[in-house]
Amino acid sequence: MLFRTKDPLTTKLKEHFGFSTFRPLQREIMEETLAGKDALALLPTGGGKSLCYQLPALMREGLTLVISPLIALMKDQVDALVENGVSAAYLNSSLSENSSKETWRRLYRGEIKILYLSPERLLLQGMFDTLATLSLEFVAVDEAHCISSWGHDFRPEYRALRALRERFPAVPILALTASATERVRGDIIEMLGMQAARHFVASFNRPNLSYRVIPRVTPMKQILEVLADHKDETGIIYCLSRAKTEAVAADLSKRGIKAEAYHAGLTSQQRDQRQELFTRDEIQVMVATIAFGMGVDKPDVRFVIHHDLPKNIESYYQETGRAGRDGLPSECVLLYSSADAAKLRNFIDQLTDPVERAVASKQLTTMLNFAEGSECRRVALLRYFGETYQGTDGAAAETCGSCDNCLTPRTEIDATEIAQKFLSCVLRVQKLSGFSVGLAHIADILTGAGNEKIKRWQHDTLSTYGAGRGMSKVQWLYYARELVSKGFLRVNQERFNVAEITPAGLEILKTRETVRLREPLLTSGLSAETRSAQRKKLGAIEFDTDIFEKLRVWRVGVAREKGIPAYMIFSDATLQAIASRNPSSLRSLEGINGIGEKKLSLYGEQVLDVLNA
Ligand code: ADP
Ligand code: ZN
Repeated sequence: MLFRTKDPLTTKLKEHFGFSTFRPLQREIMEETLAGKDALALLPTGGGKSLCYQLPALMREGLTLVISPLIALMKDQVDALVENGVSAAYLNSSLSENSSKETWRRLYRGEIKILYLSPERLLLQGMFDTLATLSLEFVAVDEAHCISSWGHDFRPEYRALRALRERFPAVPILALTASATERVRGDIIEMLGMQAARHFVASFNRPNLSYRVIPRVTPMKQILEVLADHKDETGIIYCLSRAKTEAVAADLSKRGIKAEAYHAGLTSQQRDQRQELFTRDEIQVMVATIAFGMGVDKPDVRFVIHHDLPKNIESYYQETGRAGRDGLPSECVLLYSSADAAKLRNFIDQLTDPVERAVASKQLTTMLNFAEGSECRRVALLRYFGETYQGTDGAAAETCGSCDNCLTPRTEIDATEIAQKFLSCVLRVQKLSGFSVGLAHIADILTGAGNEKIKRWQHDTLSTYGAGRGMSKVQWLYYARELVSKGFLRVNQERFNVAEITPAGLEILKTRETVRLREPLLTSGLSAETRSAQRKKLGAIEFDTDIFEKLRVWRVGVAREKGIPAYMIFSDATLQAIASRNPSSLRSLEGINGIGEKKLSLYGEQVLDVLNA
């Protein structure tokens, strides 16, 4: 039965949004702003920022204005609110004149509680005067980092907000963002004139996300292995170049997986259309460059795969952060190749500004340390943001129990023999040919391949030719990269990425000193037991999968009929909760997280019918 308290925030939370508890800091932020004060909210993606202004809007007499730079998302946000029985509207350049007029009429009649406005609209002549005739009570500035030219998403129109503050000094402002360095934070405070605002900074840990790094050897096969764990679930694959997104999307489509590419080279119409396909679950995978970013607020993205190495940890965190906003277990997989590191180094070397170059280089090194490290991924990520990871008991912890390094720590083996063979092969090629070759060619020699280059250069006459047939080329390459990261080998980027032995490598070659290397981890799939242990750690619940599937089918039907994305009907989390409890009455449905009054009356009977069928 529904737990009714006297606390009006909790009551309204359940009534309109169907939730019974707040996410960290949501309540504190709401109480602060309801007391008429400014506030700055730094919550990670998926932290539930929207609710921080949507719920208090229902407690206010007057109008709540929401400034958002993401025109494409306003409609979705408003549709979702209307589904929850909240009267909301938006005004931006995408709206026809007639719809605009209708919205204004409703505003004048005081029928709208929440108005989404693009910053461009705010700049229109006379807008402030018009706002002054409405009972404006509160302003929420979403994606507040856009106001700062230090941030990566600077929007000059956001500067209009300063004038808004000056014109309406008594109206409190809530600035929200998922990304703010000290500098950006300072800018927000200053530009919005909110020096007295309290700062609410949530933990950047995303407890429902799992992190995994695997050496990229056969990328398409590895991607398919990850996808096999996500049947009927949507996800994003990030690539470094536009061409790569096209190629991967085409390859996936050929294999019967619905995928589209997304990058800045497309027209804005194409981009909107593809994003819509993604939001509406018409495609399973979006293969994208980082152009697919801030506007992605689909809550049920179940996996994010990085095909290429991101240029820094901050980007990695933001991009993986798009998975699992709804709080359900979701997975982040990075396909790592040291070749990417070389490519990124080249980009960096071409930067002309020495300071910028130094910063980028340091960031890349940190990213590489993360990718190659054997420490818990979550601990490492959070440390980067200056945070100490805290386990479920609230004490500092060194393992999360759900990332690859925690679940399958790689054992070290005695690789002296392997190192000797590889390094001496490098040396012999040099002696025979007078030039060096790449890692792959060395692996070819060791495995006794008969390709054209080997014949032309007579590398099949070397004593190491075929001396490593006991392992595959992929395995040899893996160990070669380990030798590089241990400093025994170097890949020379100035000279076509040829492999060269370092002084340390020569030393061990001579002394035959013991070399220990980590065993390769070449499969992308996790064993069934490991996966189930992981899911438990990430907070998965037990539910009847057949019922869940039936509910999903029903949901798709309703969503199509109404022309809105499926997640707006009920989230996956809510469907799973239903499938786990199998309620038999409206009364028991009401207790489930995500089912508010409006949704109960709209869909309650239908859900019970599905359960009884
Ligand atoms: P953000 O903008 O911070 O990334 P959103 O506002 O989009 O996050 O919220 C992410 C998801 O979390 C949404 O699907 C939202 O419905 C859900 N959510 C927000 N607050 C709660 C809560 N208190 N309980 C359960 N789910 C919540
Ligand atoms: Zn871990």
